[in-house]
Amino acid sequence: ETDDVLPEKDAAYENELLTRLEAEQKRVSTIQEMRKLLPVYKYRKDLLDAIRENQILIVVSETGSGKTTQLPQFLFEDGYTKNGKFQIAVTQPRRVAATAVSARVAEEMDVVLGKEVGYSIRFDDKTHPQKTILKYMTDGMLLREFLADPELLKYSCIMIDEAHERTLATDILLGLLKDILLHRKDLKLIISSATMNSTKFSKFFYNCPIFNIPGRRFPVDIHYTLQPEANYLQAAISTIFQIHTKEKVPGDILVFLTGQDEIETAREKIEIIAEKLGSGIKPMIITPIYANLPQEEQEKIFIPTPPGCRKIVLATNIAETSLTIDGIKYVVDPGFVKENSFVPTTGMSQLETVACSRASVDQRAGRAGRVGPGKCYRLFTKWSYYNELELMPKPEIIRANLSNTVLLLLSLGITDLLKFPMLDKPSVSSLSKSLEQLYVLGALNSKGIITRLGRIMCAFPCEPEFAKVLHTSASHHLCAGVLEECLTIVSMLLEATSLFAGQRKATTSNSIAGKVSSDHMLYLRVYEEWANTNYSRLWCQDHKVQYKTLRRVKNIRDQLWRCCERLGFTALNAAATENANGSIVNPESRIAKSFISGFPMNVAQLGTSGYHTTGLKKSGGLNVFIHPSSVVFQQTREEAKKPSRYVLYQQLLLTSKEFIKDCMPVTNESWLQEMVPQVFNSR
Ligand code: ADP
Ligand code: MG
Repeated sequence: ETDDVLPEKDAAYENELLTRLEAEQKRVSTIQEMRKLLPVYKYRKDLLDAIRENQILIVVSETGSGKTTQLPQFLFEDGYTKNGKFQIAVTQPRRVAATAVSARVAEEMDVVLGKEVGYSIRFDDKTHPQKTILKYMTDGMLLREFLADPELLKYSCIMIDEAHERTLATDILLGLLKDILLHRKDLKLIISSATMNSTKFSKFFYNCPIFNIPGRRFPVDIHYTLQPEANYLQAAISTIFQIHTKEKVPGDILVFLTGQDEIETAREKIEIIAEKLGSGIKPMIITPIYANLPQEEQEKIFIPTPPGCRKIVLATNIAETSLTIDGIKYVVDPGFVKENSFVPTTGMSQLETVACSRASVDQRAGRAGRVGPGKCYRLFTKWSYYNELELMPKPEIIRANLSNTVLLLLSLGITDLLKFPMLDKPSVSSLSKSLEQLYVLGALNSKGIITRLGRIMCAFPCEPEFAKVLHTSASHHLCAGVLEECLTIVSMLLEATSLFAGQRKATTSNSIAGKVSSDHMLYLRVYEEWANTNYSRLWCQDHKVQYKTLRRVKNIRDQLWRCCERLGFTALNAAATENANGSIVNPESRIAKSFISGFPMNVAQLGTSGYHTTGLKKSGGLNVFIHPSSVVFQQTREEAKKPSRYVLYQQLLLTSKEFIKDCMPVTNESWLQEMVPQVFNSR
């Protein structure tokens, strides 16, 4: 944004240029030196030989050996991109890994990110159609590419990285690739994994060879607590200060927490304590890292710690194997992870904090032993480690909601789901529940065949439920004409986790939107107000809303809008508005109806002991509480208003309590029957 003023050409200037050039050359040469120190470097030739001789190769090594950053460069150097004719794809389970690693590789290759080396994650494509040869992407993005190009013809090599994570998308990719490798003999598949589960991959791919790269790892001293911790966050924080004040040896601390909220809470608490201790302790640099962390913040975790300071990395399990942060000597591990799971009997998805597996906590401990001997503080008992923890994490495919995946497979023409090759088969009840849900959404007809609406839902770069909301808001005879509003709310829901800078939503809501009836309406008002100021940065500062988050929301909204145009939604919406003589009466109820049509499973009903979720069933379910951050929570408390009989929620969160987040009261019960008669008529 600043203007570059050219200095006058004189001796001093030329000298400065020379020094800069030298520094630049030195930087490049040290990066090249660093590459040579990585364990994979010694095996470069053997690896390339093995890849030449085998169509499929599994590469296993300790985390931090250089698989993710180096292997794709080796392939490029060995000519697999055929002078730019082909691309090399590298998949990652997490967005942050895709962006951070591609930035690193671009730097190593001394190119601009987004040209020769790029990344592609949902709503953010930093690749160049002609120039990109190394493409880092989320596994979900590669999965979507099958829709447009079922043979993946533009790739000569595909590296499925972090395969041990066994995300749903990775498992499905492996199944699809198993088929196309049969008739695309020129396509190479590399499956790379940390040191777990590798024989399972080999068996799946006709006993293909496993290439083991010996790693280096220094011993790590493991400490357990003597009793279970009642409050692991508190325990983690005091452990951090103990290490920081007592340990003479320099070295950074890596703390494993479960998610953004927890990380931000911990960060605040640590900062308060550090401030109180003042100059009594050495300076601490606190750096969070989690999936939705904006890119400008990500780079901070890799900046080397200045002497005399200690870096405290507060991470989700992204730092377990996906990202390696140099300089970690201490690991603090409460032993928990947030998992997405699905209960087939009710058809509900939930985000749940669960104990890690032994394999996971061992990986985490290993992060302390990369640069030298390290220490790991486990905030659970030794007994628990040996008696309570599962050996391995459960693959996502046997615990997650499969609706989206099933819809994608059906639209790819794969109709016999039970025959589809999978490392682990999901239960039949889970599969049939997804089919039932897809039927309720109108994506399948009663014979289980994908409908036109189903294909449209699949074409959207977001969950089919959101696509259904948008479709309804543009075209349903009872509520069309509110596409713009729903588009805004959906875009906000997709990104809004980091919108209100550490503040309660309600405080912000009063200052911006006045009284609103639901979180959905709050999101809409906030965005509209901001848009009315011509997307002003100042407005965000005044209202303590994250400007960068809103910019990303706008970007998502623009992309979804173009998608709506392509699929004809915008025209339908315009026609509906026209029919209503240009002014839509009661847009709020139309918006509510649109969301009901997309999320009939996410309706909770008021019973004798508060709300309980119902899913597709008439009874049973889980008792839930409206999350304190919701404006609906504030209303029922402050105004002693009678709670509405039904409430729609966007997220079910199981932590210390069962919470529903992003809620909207269903003020008129007949909407449920109107919009989803299949489910609600019989109630
Ligand atoms: P693996 O995939 O085998 O776990 P990586 O290729 O991710 O190993 O890491 C190799 C090295 O590259 C590590 O020392 C790591 O610290 C470094 N590295 C990776 N990404 C970055 C980054 N964005 N910034 C700085 N260093 C990085
Ligand atoms: Mg890696």
